Amino acid sequence: MGMQWTPAVLQRRRHGRVQCLLCPFRCALEDGETGLCGVRRRTGDRLETATFASSVRHWDTVERKPLYHYRPGTPCLTLAAPGCTFACDYCINHRMSQYGREDSVRWDAEPVDAEEVAGEAAARSGCVAISYTEPSLAIELTAALAESGRPLGVDVVWKSNGFLTAEAVDLAARHVAAVNVDVKTLDERDHRDLTGARPGPVLDALTGLRERGVWVEVSTPLIPGLTAGPGTLRPIARALAALDPAIPWHLVRATPAHRRTGHAPTPVADLAAGVRIGREEGLRHVYVERALGAVGRATRCPRCRTTVVARDIWALGENALEDGRCPRCGTAVEGRW
Ligand code: SF4
Repeated sequence: MGMQWTPAVLQRRRHGRVQCLLCPFRCALEDGETGLCGVRRRTGDRLETATFASSVRHWDTVERKPLYHYRPGTPCLTLAAPGCTFACDYCINHRMSQYGREDSVRWDAEPVDAEEVAGEAAARSGCVAISYTEPSLAIELTAALAESGRPLGVDVVWKSNGFLTAEAVDLAARHVAAVNVDVKTLDERDHRDLTGARPGPVLDALTGLRERGVWVEVSTPLIPGLTAGPGTLRPIARALAALDPAIPWHLVRATPAHRRTGHAPTPVADLAAGVRIGREEGLRHVYVERALGAVGRATRCPRCRTTVVARDIWALGENALEDGRCPRCGTAVEGRW
């Protein structure tokens, strides 16, 4: 089905233009213009979005987002509204995310009936995830899903690039229960090269979401030759530990994709070094998927190091926590269990 444009939120009039307040690009649009993301546009005095739609609809687990400290084992009905505010050259989902930014990407999405999706998620005691593309661009869909899901006990979770304005953080925090935010690098130039945007707003957004009660975990892709070394990882670990040493940090193995194909998958040694760096900087929970086996995915008690949550690949193995506490020493483990 073709694109359908529906009313968007977070806009204001400014010097005769309509300004979008969703992401820090803050596009000021003339009538008929589309924003940098390609999925929000101005028509007359109205801001509109094409993101009340999804390219995928499938079941998956919350561990896959990845969210490790949020209701382990919860099934997620996962949607993806086309579009992204970043243009990462390594994006494995570029055939969905780069709609509107790359001419070769075709529109391929169906309108979403929020009530029906929330009902399907409720029937499996699951949540709804928006993932693969940038979920903040679908803030209107997120709000509708959360409103339909609330009376049914269905949460909405995001996997986001964290490139949100303070206004968008305020709105998202009312509707999103948990989010995994990508922090790719804090180096200004590397971040611009990689994404086309500044890194500062990402840290601000993850801080703001946490302050407003959203459960936040962080992912960092270790791209060989760019973000896989200590020069990238230590500043991120330090910044996260300064916010809260209990923030779970996921180190993600990068495989060649999209326009970044000239490297091998991240060496296991770099991932193991990243884990050490995270711990040295004081982070309590540092994870690696797809490289260090079950050890890389296990949650340990921060005090006695007992394994309290064991994970298979992309799924819950065993959750031994008792009311969020270590069964051996009683120490509370941070999370929404
Ligand atoms: S969400 Fe899109 S239209 Fe809005 S400011 Fe960001 S890039 Fe521009």
